[in-house]
Amino acid sequence: MRYIRPLSIEDAVGQLAGSAGTAAILAGGSDLLVRMKGGFIEPELIVDIKAIEGLSEIRETAEGFSIGAAVPCAVMGENATLKKAWPGVVEAAKLIGSKQVQGRCTIVGNLCNASPAADSVPAMVAAAARAVIAGPAGKRTIAVESVPTGPGRTSLANGEIIEAILLDKRPPRSGDAYLRFIPRTEMDIAVVSAGANLTLDEHGVVKSARVTLGAAAPTVLLVEAAAEVLIGSKLDESTLERLAKVCSGACRPIDDKRGTIEFRRKVAGVLARRVATTAYQRAGGK
Ligand SMILES: Cc1cc2nc3c(=O)[nH]c(=O)nc-3n(C[C@H](O)[C@H](O)[C@H](O)COP(=O)(O)OP(=O)(O)OC[C@H]3O[C@@H](n4cnc5c(N)ncnc54)[C@H](O)[C@@H]3O)c2cc1C
Repeated sequence: MRYIRPLSIEDAVGQLAGSAGTAAILAGGSDLLVRMKGGFIEPELIVDIKAIEGLSEIRETAEGFSIGAAVPCAVMGENATLKKAWPGVVEAAKLIGSKQVQGRCTIVGNLCNASPAADSVPAMVAAAARAVIAGPAGKRTIAVESVPTGPGRTSLANGEIIEAILLDKRPPRSGDAYLRFIPRTEMDIAVVSAGANLTLDEHGVVKSARVTLGAAAPTVLLVEAAAEVLIGSKLDESTLERLAKVCSGACRPIDDKRGTIEFRRKVAGVLARRVATTAYQRAGGK
């Protein structure tokens, strides 16, 4: 096995693209190393991206935030401006594993591991986050939801690396939130999860909404019908009831030891209600 720690994205892309055998990108390693230890993969080349210039930075630009692919989730939680602008994205990142895991793990690793239960992904999709990808053919930017294509699979081509996640500047009166159900208080995988991102008008009426569900299908669900229910409302009880119904109906979960299909459907509706209410309050709605 060959381990390299390139200093530039061009070098990293070149090494990955030129590798004849299995190659893996190493960010925090909290998924990759576990899979290697378990004998599920044995990469011939490991490209550690943590020394690449700019990848460990959170930058605030005129357009919003750019979160480098090697920024640990704990560092996101320490960034007061990011936390204020996107509390839902940060709370999702801060739910991953334990304090120790958060000191290493990244939201890009969470995205590229492509688990249907990944915590940061529903929050990023609700936030309409985009991924900046560097590859042998140059750079491209795509919606975060286009990255995972199924459990453990992504749309990234050979040699491609996600450089950063972009979060746009928010209009006034906006708020987001993320919640998951786990049978323990922490260190567990979401049985179901939900994200919401709302913008209100000056009267507290929802004018735009994105609602997502995690662990409810092979990839995160962006529930358009849920957004339609919320837009034009002030989240009164009948709206919340309809939201729960629409979200429960949108689920395509599996039946496993951690939850039945029926249970997951029910909890998806409950979480959608709660997460929309929190996002609404964070946006200044009463
Ligand atoms: C004890 C423990 C608890 C955990 N708890 C949770 C939890 O509560 N919720 C949750 O969602 N996950 C959890 N996880 C899983 C894991 O911590 C997360 O998925 C984490 O975000 C992965 O990030 P990483 O930087 O460590 O990824 P890595 O392990 O470095 O990489 C993961 C995958 O993404 C690829 N990759 C990494 N960076 C890039 C990039 N820039 N471009 C392209 N591909 C890339 C890697 O090649 C690899 O395939 C847990 C893991 C452990 C060990």
